[in-house]
Amino acid sequence: MCGVFGIHGHDEAANIAYLGMHALQHRGQESAGLVAADEGKLRRHVAMGLVSDAFNRDVLAKLPGTTAIGHVRYSTAGSSELRNAQPFLFEYAGGSVSIAHNGNLVNAGELRAELEAQGSIFQTSSDTEVIVHLMAKAPQPDIVGKLVHALKRVRGAYSLILLTSDGKMIGVRDPNGFRPLVLGRLKDAYVLSSETCSFDLIEGDLLREVEPGEIVIVEKGGMTSQKLPEIAERTFCVFEHVYFARPDSLVNGKSVYRAREKMGMKLAQEAPVEADVVIPVPDSGVPAAVGYAKESGIPFELGLIRSHYVGRTFIEPQDSIRHFGVRLKLSPVRSVVDGKRVVVVDDSLVRGTTSRKIVKMLRNAGAKEVHLRISAPPTTHPCYYGIDTPTRSELVAASHTIDEINTYVTSDSLSYLSHEGMMQAVGSANEKTGQGYCSACFTGKYPVQLGTDQLVTLRRARV
Ligand code: 5GP
Ligand code: SF4
Ligand code: MG
Repeated sequence: MCGVFGIHGHDEAANIAYLGMHALQHRGQESAGLVAADEGKLRRHVAMGLVSDAFNRDVLAKLPGTTAIGHVRYSTAGSSELRNAQPFLFEYAGGSVSIAHNGNLVNAGELRAELEAQGSIFQTSSDTEVIVHLMAKAPQPDIVGKLVHALKRVRGAYSLILLTSDGKMIGVRDPNGFRPLVLGRLKDAYVLSSETCSFDLIEGDLLREVEPGEIVIVEKGGMTSQKLPEIAERTFCVFEHVYFARPDSLVNGKSVYRAREKMGMKLAQEAPVEADVVIPVPDSGVPAAVGYAKESGIPFELGLIRSHYVGRTFIEPQDSIRHFGVRLKLSPVRSVVDGKRVVVVDDSLVRGTTSRKIVKMLRNAGAKEVHLRISAPPTTHPCYYGIDTPTRSELVAASHTIDEINTYVTSDSLSYLSHEGMMQAVGSANEKTGQGYCSACFTGKYPVQLGTDQLVTLRRARV
């Protein structure tokens, strides 16, 4: 998962992009990068870590120009290292181009093998670089032609922003529209972003979303738009509504906060329980817990406090000391839960390890009963379209019943929102063709044919 941002036609392009990236920080904390264009020269700065660590006044001052694109990365394809940090910047016969990608290509492995057999030398382990090589080899003379040529070969999820040395900013979304991308204005400048919350921060105006399969080209004379030749049904990622997008963003023109609140309300209807207090697992579980409390009439309180200063703890990957990670991030409020029957609402349950620790924590703080309510269906399948869900063997719901998970996390009861309930809460993403969502991680119905790499891991997980 990643966040992308771009601005064209502003005297302080790099500063504005820096702010825009801050608003997208929740979409990726691994690396941050920015490329600015100044009279045909593209300059790049990328670093590991958060936007606030990667940039300072001096760095931004070295990125002059009126156009800039930025990227925050959360590794999916490719390992966590600086050479995979985006935006990428490359030279081709006609000039230089920079590219920032949110999503994941499912056939990158096959294409990479083919390109390497033809002599391409890859500099990163990122799927995005495949697009770059395909563009470099394209026979078309112009950059948009090269891009269209390259995208004909790739399958999967991509919301891209490109910046060219001849002064263009290009935004493009895959024909399925898996990942969000919105278009806005800041005075005379055009802006592109993964989410509308970044427009709020820079005090820009939302124009509209970039359509699935649409290419928008911004240059000095204004903005033009064209379509990719391939047509597909919209399958917007429902998990953006469940977990990924920021609650103050509009996604498909709909409030993420209200969708999550509705998920909580539906959950209260589907899985009621007698209890004294409803508490969220902060931050992601908050809007759904508000909905659950409203609908059930059970008081809402903050029974878990999240430390906002932990960031991504380096100890997290090692199992032996992983449990400190959860305690560093969350601590129970004894005065809220002591002696109470507690409903804990979280947005999703993936491995179950966090939930298990939370239940234990609440019991230690005196909770009499702990009822876990998840405002999405069981996560049974990995995502191959840009969300870093673990392999099937690590997804607890892939191989266990809800009863077994309840026993594992040691809750008094456990319920998930039904698939139908989730879909009703998010509404339609496409008025013409119906729902218009991908929900493959809950159903296993992958809307875009997987590549050989993914099919191998899926098969391996089954045995
Ligand atoms: P679990 O109980 O499965 O260990 O953890 C569930 C928590 O993981 C939930 O609070 C949910 O918000 C969070 N979560 C769900 N998907 C993701 C993801 O893709 N990345 C991260 N970092 N957390 C996630
Ligand atoms: Fe989103 Fe799940 Fe589909 Fe991935 S599989 S795109 S997380 S709905
Ligand atoms: Mg969470």
